[in-house]
Amino acid sequence: MMQIFRTVQEMQAFAAKMKKEGKIIGLCPTMGSLHEGHMTLMRAARAKCDIVIASVFVNPTQFGPNEDYDAYPRRFGEDCKKLEAEGIDAVFHPEPEEMYPQGYCTYVNVDGDITHKLCGAQRPIHFRGVATVVTKLMNITRADEAFFGQKDAQQVVVVHRFVSDLNLPVHINMVPICREPSGLARSSRNIYLSPAEKEAALILSKSLKKAKAAYENGETDVESLKKIVSDSIRTEPLAAIDYVDLFSFPALEPITKISDPGLLAIAVKINKIRLIDNVILGAK
Ligand code: AMP
Repeated sequence: MMQIFRTVQEMQAFAAKMKKEGKIIGLCPTMGSLHEGHMTLMRAARAKCDIVIASVFVNPTQFGPNEDYDAYPRRFGEDCKKLEAEGIDAVFHPEPEEMYPQGYCTYVNVDGDITHKLCGAQRPIHFRGVATVVTKLMNITRADEAFFGQKDAQQVVVVHRFVSDLNLPVHINMVPICREPSGLARSSRNIYLSPAEKEAALILSKSLKKAKAAYENGETDVESLKKIVSDSIRTEPLAAIDYVDLFSFPALEPITKISDPGLLAIAVKINKIRLIDNVILGAK
């Protein structure tokens, strides 16, 4: 029977009990409105850990003032059914006031280049919010293993950084991007897309596929690969590029040629809906 905890105290008591029994605890942080992409995380955790805890929390501190915090979809009832079907042991679903009570003033600020580029350039407080909430979730759940999607590859890099910098005893697992049969990367924000917009959104995965094919045919020049993607996206009238960029992975350092793995990452607005996608080229 899946347990649902809404307070930090209850969640901590459960985690302490599991720890005492010597269980390996896996954590899958989510903002809910769960889809197949989230489920791939759950399955990876289920396969590796004795106890799997999913968190469902739309974290206010990672949204900028003009972003979609209020409008972000919330479907906790349906989420629980999906998590129960995956055999998840416990769900942590706190209210914002439970995570950030009055007087709260401590943040985890990953203050390096890795948070200032890609999504960090447009969303200046985003990764501070992510790092803060993930640190809290790791502490509350006493996670040994934590699971994140490659869909948010920069997030994985940032999490690795603060886990290492703060000596947190958690191992990070990155799960591949789960896509719809059409190629569209699954995302909670896809439900905002009209049928025409959903069709237009295919340009993200299509453009990345083109670049991947070029890379596999020997193109390693970063500017050329970026141009293949940008030119392809520009053929779609509903699409507006936020960024198309390519950095080394996982260091996220600027490169001119791909020799070691490179992260080709894009953010594109389809009308008002901002979508992200990426591919890792040269992954071993
Ligand atoms: P979110 O609820 O959007 O914050 O996502 C929670 C976790 O699920 C993050 O680690 C995401 O990277 C991961 N995730 C979301 N969509 C996908 C996807 N299509 N494939 C793999 N992982 C995903």
